[in-house]
Amino acid sequence: MRKFLSVVMALVMVVGMAFAATSCSSKGYDFDKETELVMVTNAAFPPYESKSGDEFVGIDIDIAKEIAKRLGKTLRIEDVDFNSIITGIETGKYDMALAGMTVTEERKKSVSFSDSYATGIQVMIVRSDSQYQSIDDFFNYDEEGNPVSLKNTDIKIGVQQTTTGDIYSSADVTGWGFNDLNEDESIKTDRVTRYKTGADAVEALKTGKVDVVIIDNEPAKSFVASNTDGSGNSPIRILETEYTNEDYAIAVNKNSTVLLEKINQVLKEMKEDGTLDRIISTYIKAE
Ligand code: GLN
Repeated sequence: MRKFLSVVMALVMVVGMAFAATSCSSKGYDFDKETELVMVTNAAFPPYESKSGDEFVGIDIDIAKEIAKRLGKTLRIEDVDFNSIITGIETGKYDMALAGMTVTEERKKSVSFSDSYATGIQVMIVRSDSQYQSIDDFFNYDEEGNPVSLKNTDIKIGVQQTTTGDIYSSADVTGWGFNDLNEDESIKTDRVTRYKTGADAVEALKTGKVDVVIIDNEPAKSFVASNTDGSGNSPIRILETEYTNEDYAIAVNKNSTVLLEKINQVLKEMKEDGTLDRIISTYIKAE
């Protein structure tokens, strides 16, 4: 009994210390004291962030460099799994997240978002020989035009874990056309595969493990381009219709109020002086 009690006591202490550590490190960014600004991202999301050799490149990287420069800070970039980003911001491990991250109500409970700096579109990628031409081939709609269920529940869907594509096809949201899958967790586990990166999901699509990947439009275009051969053929293509529109923004710790204000100020200046457009058009060519 005594041994059991001391184990319990030890556990209570460890948990208590963990809490203390978390609350300490989540005081937010001390703008006047800090000289370094740590950006967190998942560098497998071109053209927003990827790696060219050892170097980070992309829209978010250039925006972060510009923010750091205008705020007089040294930028450090950390590359982690997408699903570690929000927790890392919450615990104060990183100062700001730029990761083509969509503003969602759920995420707003954990972090603060800056003003939006870009629009994202979710699309579906299929194999080029797929029977699907448009997202209307996937869904049954209600009278108001909202997707309510899948036409073919045998279809295998690939998503990148914890991204919005994962959220739309997941159990706790309705209105995205996956309601019937969500009624039964075992069907869902069988049908929806959650990959660590978008690139992994696309590989699974190419090898026939899944039939469709839900992903952001610009990375989708990059994946199609990088899979296109010399004669312009690609084993994958993007369905014509868009699935949904989203806002991308920078996430910071809820207590980093000064940093958030400064970031919004710089974003405003970058919008007004054309820097933001210039950065985006370096990577996304007008069609
Ligand atoms: N925009 C998507 C999201 O925020 C995907 C982002 C990403 O994969 N980097 O969930």
